[in-house]
Amino acid sequence: MNDCIFCKISAGELPAKIVDRSAHAIAIEDLNPQAPTHLLVIPVEHYATLGDATATDARLVAEVMSLASRLGARHGSEGGFRLVVNTGADGGQTVGHLHVHVLAGRRMTWPPG
Ligand code: 5GP
Ligand code: ZN
Repeated sequence: MNDCIFCKISAGELPAKIVDRSAHAIAIEDLNPQAPTHLLVIPVEHYATLGDATATDARLVAEVMSLASRLGARHGSEGGFRLVVNTGADGGQTVGHLHVHVLAGRRMTWPPG
């Protein structure tokens, strides 16, 4: 857990562009944006996956999703936005600290790769 980059960002030990926050979560700009708006909503406390967080603190998950939804609405057009939670290797998760991607500003395609 000491090597977790999102724990370090949450603790202010690694730099990131923080765009918003709630009581227990922060929202940062993704380092490698895949859309005109690409934010990550990250709980300050370390949970490896959505399942871990849900099992321990479902209210935190609601808080994280609520912040992501508000940011999507704020940064997306009237046409909408996309929230993504990659989970595990097959889900494409590369950082083992729960985060919700907020993607907005372009028309998304489906299915994702
Ligand atoms: P995942 O693949 O785990 O769903 O998403 C991880 C995301 O974190 C990727 O979109 C990647 O660009 C982003 N990312 C990885 N390292 C950093 C970092 O140090 N700072 C920021 N702001 N984003 C990062
Ligand atoms: Zn962490």
